[in-house]
Amino acid sequence: MAKKSDVCAFCGRKANEVRLLMQGIDAQICDSCAEQAYAIVKEQFANEKKDNKFDSKGFTLKKPAEIKAFLDQYVIGQDEAKRTLAVAVYNHYKRISQKVEADEVEIEKSNIILVGETGTGKTLLARTIAKMLNVPFAIADATVLTEAGYVGEDVENILVRLLQAADYDVAATERGIVFIDEIDKIARKSDNPSITRDVSGEGVQQAMLKLLEGSVVNVPPKGGRKHPEQPMVAINTKDILFIAGGAFDGIDRLIAARKRTNVIGYGTGGNEVIDKDNMLQYLSPADLKKFGLIPEIVGRLPIITHLNPLDETALKRILTEPKNALVKQFAKLFKMDHINLVIKDEVLDFVVEKAIEFKVGARGLRSIMEAFLNDAMFELPSDINATELVIDRAYAEAKLEKSGLKKLHAGD
Ligand code: ADP
Repeated sequence: MAKKSDVCAFCGRKANEVRLLMQGIDAQICDSCAEQAYAIVKEQFANEKKDNKFDSKGFTLKKPAEIKAFLDQYVIGQDEAKRTLAVAVYNHYKRISQKVEADEVEIEKSNIILVGETGTGKTLLARTIAKMLNVPFAIADATVLTEAGYVGEDVENILVRLLQAADYDVAATERGIVFIDEIDKIARKSDNPSITRDVSGEGVQQAMLKLLEGSVVNVPPKGGRKHPEQPMVAINTKDILFIAGGAFDGIDRLIAARKRTNVIGYGTGGNEVIDKDNMLQYLSPADLKKFGLIPEIVGRLPIITHLNPLDETALKRILTEPKNALVKQFAKLFKMDHINLVIKDEVLDFVVEKAIEFKVGARGLRSIMEAFLNDAMFELPSDINATELVIDRAYAEAKLEKSGLKKLHAGD
């Protein structure tokens, strides 16, 4: 009988029955068992990859019309922005999936800028696109960013957040979407660089440029300031889609001024009809530059679109229509306590009136509803006889009055 040390520990064949017997610490494995083991390992790893949260294999790119239909489920109105975004996102992911061959046309990346008042759905649009594509998503607030060396956050931290959203999967990070909020707040104060060298704004824009144009950036995976002892992760931003958003307060005046000059300057006879109530529809890269974005940044955000202010009808629809509309969310919360929540239509009008009065648009809707539902949410779970709660306008008015909610800020 062969010594134990002369046989494959897996199949039991002796050294002279196999081509190769590899020695381990106190056992051996033959070539065919090693081969089988390798096949198992490969299969196992492939399966694990499939379970990854952000697996690109299961990624099926929807057509622009399908992308828009998806957005329609969550975002009310804003048709033009949705159409522009749908095409941009479609092209972006087509570009990522193209195999670059030497003689092929390489499609350049096109980041997007959304201009519109606060609370009109800019972040929601970007977030919904990321949800649809199942790619990591991060929001960066431009106002807290500073140039390296100043107090505040380094621009690279934007990528740290994306990396964290991707569970530290670098490949997924490199296909993600970043929403840069309040980009208008880092505009330089004058569009003449020689007059005002405004470091806080212009310097951040310069730093951000590096991310937008596509480059390999070393980031400290845990965030914070870079320091020599910390290991770095290299992230290529070439395929990361950046969507910037901002209210650009007062840009309508710049657009109007430009339109006027054009009309006079080019002798169109002054009969071009301008819809003064919605100047944003005429927005152009020139206006963004005039507002104070440096030309290089404007050049890296070639897809420009705008969001319209939300009117009463839109606000009312937001309360009830989206897939996770507020009214549906509150109804679900009460349902968990076996209570049927009925909110009368007149209450929805009241909520919209208040949101308009507080000038917070869609952002304030939740706080207003929370304020008048709070008593019921406190008391009813302990009331074993409660099966239904009907809210009418008088109830909502009285409870809101009692809550003392008199004012809201855009961030509430
Ligand atoms: P901003 O334009 O300032 O980025 P957000 O997208 O953050 O605004 O909107 C704030 C909240 O208001 C959203 O989370 C959403 O609940 C609601 N909201 C805003 N606009 C819309 C919209 N067009 N459709 C549906 N909900 C909206």
